[in-house]
Amino acid sequence: MGIVEWAFRKSPWILHFNTGSCNGCDIEIFATLTPKYDMERLGALLKGSPRHADLLVVSGPVTRQASGRILRIYEQMPDPKKVVAVGTCCISGGVFSNGGKGSCYNVYPGLDSIVPVDAYVPGCPPKPEAILEGISRVVKKTGVDPK
Ligand code: SF4
Repeated sequence: MGIVEWAFRKSPWILHFNTGSCNGCDIEIFATLTPKYDMERLGALLKGSPRHADLLVVSGPVTRQASGRILRIYEQMPDPKKVVAVGTCCISGGVFSNGGKGSCYNVYPGLDSIVPVDAYVPGCPPKPEAILEGISRVVKKTGVDPK
Protein backbone atom coordinates (compact mmCIF):
# COMPACT_ATOMS: atom_id res chain seq x y z
CA MET A 1 0.00 0.00 0.00
CA GLY A 2 1.40 3.41 -1.01
CA ILE A 3 1.94 6.27 1.41
CA VAL A 4 -1.08 8.13 0.04
CA GLU A 5 -3.43 5.17 0.53
CA TRP A 6 -1.90 4.61 3.97
CA ALA A 7 -2.58 8.25 4.88
CA PHE A 8 -6.16 7.98 3.64
CA ARG A 9 -6.77 4.87 5.75
CA LYS A 10 -9.84 5.47 7.91
CA SER A 11 -10.12 9.07 6.66
CA PRO A 12 -12.02 9.33 3.36
CA TRP A 13 -12.78 13.06 3.24
CA ILE A 14 -15.93 13.99 1.40
CA LEU A 15 -17.07 16.90 -0.72
CA HIS A 16 -20.83 17.03 -1.25
CA PHE A 17 -22.10 18.81 -4.38
CA ASN A 18 -25.78 19.44 -5.04
CA THR A 19 -26.42 19.89 -8.77
CA GLY A 20 -29.92 21.23 -8.17
CA SER A 21 -31.66 18.46 -6.30
CA CYS A 22 -35.04 18.82 -4.59
CA ASN A 23 -33.12 18.50 -1.26
CA GLY A 24 -34.57 15.04 -0.56
CA CYS A 25 -31.22 13.38 -1.27
CA ASP A 26 -29.33 16.13 0.58
CA ILE A 27 -31.33 15.63 3.74
CA GLU A 28 -30.50 11.91 3.66
CA ILE A 29 -26.80 12.71 3.09
CA PHE A 30 -26.85 15.05 6.09
CA ALA A 31 -28.61 12.36 8.14
CA THR A 32 -25.73 10.04 7.18
CA LEU A 33 -23.24 12.58 8.50
CA THR A 34 -25.04 13.44 11.75
CA PRO A 35 -24.94 11.40 15.00
CA LYS A 36 -27.72 8.87 14.31
CA TYR A 37 -25.83 7.24 11.41
CA ASP A 38 -22.49 8.84 12.28
CA MET A 39 -20.42 8.40 9.13
CA GLU A 40 -17.55 10.00 11.04
CA ARG A 41 -17.00 6.71 12.88
CA LEU A 42 -15.60 5.48 9.54
CA GLY A 43 -13.26 8.47 9.51
CA ALA A 44 -15.32 10.25 6.87
CA LEU A 45 -15.38 14.03 7.21
CA LEU A 46 -17.26 16.64 5.22
CA LYS A 47 -14.82 19.11 3.67
CA GLY A 48 -15.43 22.45 1.98
CA SER A 49 -12.64 22.34 -0.62
CA PRO A 50 -12.13 19.89 -3.50
CA ARG A 51 -8.37 20.12 -2.85
CA HIS A 52 -8.91 18.41 0.53
CA ALA A 53 -11.42 15.79 -0.62
CA ASP A 54 -11.04 12.12 -1.62
CA LEU A 55 -14.68 11.40 -2.39
CA LEU A 56 -17.07 13.52 -4.42
CA VAL A 57 -20.67 12.81 -3.38
CA VAL A 58 -23.14 14.26 -5.89
CA SER A 59 -26.91 14.60 -5.59
CA GLY A 60 -29.55 15.88 -7.98
CA PRO A 61 -30.07 15.92 -11.75
CA VAL A 62 -26.91 16.95 -13.64
CA THR A 63 -27.88 20.08 -15.54
CA ARG A 64 -25.93 21.77 -18.33
CA GLN A 65 -25.37 24.71 -15.98
CA ALA A 66 -23.85 22.48 -13.26
CA SER A 67 -21.82 20.21 -15.57
CA GLY A 68 -18.84 22.58 -15.96
CA ARG A 69 -18.66 23.10 -12.20
CA ILE A 70 -18.73 19.35 -11.53
CA LEU A 71 -15.87 18.84 -13.99
CA ARG A 72 -13.85 21.69 -12.44
CA ILE A 73 -14.38 20.31 -8.92
CA TYR A 74 -13.38 16.81 -10.08
CA GLU A 75 -10.20 18.11 -11.74
CA GLN A 76 -9.22 20.00 -8.57
CA MET A 77 -9.42 16.87 -6.37
CA PRO A 78 -6.14 15.02 -5.71
CA ASP A 79 -5.68 11.40 -6.81
CA PRO A 80 -6.82 8.82 -5.92
CA LYS A 81 -10.28 10.38 -6.16
CA LYS A 82 -13.61 8.62 -6.24
CA VAL A 83 -17.16 9.67 -7.10
CA VAL A 84 -20.47 8.54 -5.62
CA ALA A 85 -23.78 9.34 -7.37
CA VAL A 86 -26.63 9.59 -4.85
CA GLY A 87 -30.25 9.27 -5.99
CA THR A 88 -32.09 8.43 -9.16
CA CYS A 89 -31.79 11.95 -10.58
CA CYS A 90 -28.00 11.89 -10.30
CA ILE A 91 -27.64 8.33 -11.61
CA SER A 92 -29.84 8.66 -14.69
CA GLY A 93 -31.46 12.09 -14.78
CA GLY A 94 -34.64 10.40 -13.57
CA VAL A 95 -37.82 11.95 -14.85
CA PHE A 96 -35.90 15.04 -15.94
CA SER A 97 -33.42 13.59 -18.44
CA ASN A 98 -34.28 14.22 -22.05
CA GLY A 99 -31.71 11.59 -23.09
CA GLY A 100 -33.82 9.18 -21.08
CA LYS A 101 -36.97 10.60 -22.76
CA GLY A 102 -37.73 12.74 -19.74
CA SER A 103 -39.01 16.27 -19.72
CA CYS A 104 -35.94 18.56 -19.56
CA TYR A 105 -33.64 19.30 -22.52
CA ASN A 106 -30.99 20.69 -20.17
CA VAL A 107 -30.48 17.57 -17.98
CA TYR A 108 -27.83 14.94 -18.73
CA PRO A 109 -28.74 11.24 -18.56
CA GLY A 110 -26.58 10.72 -15.47
CA LEU A 111 -23.45 11.93 -13.69
CA ASP A 112 -21.27 9.45 -15.61
CA SER A 113 -21.88 11.58 -18.73
CA ILE A 114 -19.57 14.15 -17.09
CA VAL A 115 -17.13 12.32 -14.75
CA PRO A 116 -16.35 8.64 -13.99
CA VAL A 117 -18.59 7.27 -11.24
CA ASP A 118 -17.39 4.60 -8.79
CA ALA A 119 -20.64 3.89 -6.92
CA TYR A 120 -24.31 4.41 -7.63
CA VAL A 121 -26.74 4.72 -4.73
CA PRO A 122 -30.27 4.34 -6.15
CA GLY A 123 -33.44 5.62 -4.53
CA CYS A 124 -35.64 8.69 -4.44
CA PRO A 125 -34.19 9.51 -2.02
CA PRO A 126 -31.93 6.65 -0.89
CA LYS A 127 -31.84 5.83 2.82
CA PRO A 128 -28.80 6.81 4.91
CA GLU A 129 -27.92 3.10 5.26
CA ALA A 130 -27.67 2.85 1.45
CA ILE A 131 -25.51 5.97 1.23
CA LEU A 132 -23.21 4.55 3.93
CA GLU A 133 -23.00 1.27 2.00
CA GLY A 134 -22.13 3.08 -1.25
CA ILE A 135 -19.38 5.11 0.41
CA SER A 136 -18.01 2.02 2.22
CA ARG A 137 -17.78 0.13 -1.08
CA VAL A 138 -15.86 2.96 -2.71
CA VAL A 139 -13.50 3.14 0.25
CA LYS A 140 -12.87 -0.60 -0.03
CA LYS A 141 -12.20 -0.20 -3.78
CA THR A 142 -9.43 2.28 -3.06
CA GLY A 143 -7.80 -0.21 -0.71
CA VAL A 144 -8.78 1.84 2.32
CA ASP A 145 -10.47 -0.46 4.82
CA PRO A 146 -13.23 1.36 6.81
CA LYS A 147 -13.14 -1.23 9.68
S1 SF4 B 1 -33.69 11.35 -6.54
FE1 SF4 B 1 -35.66 12.03 -5.65
S2 SF4 B 1 -35.08 12.94 -3.66
FE2 SF4 B 1 -33.19 12.82 -4.89
S3 SF4 B 1 -33.02 14.82 -5.92
FE3 SF4 B 1 -34.13 13.43 -7.32
S4 SF4 B 1 -36.35 13.80 -6.89
FE4 SF4 B 1 -35.14 14.63 -5.15
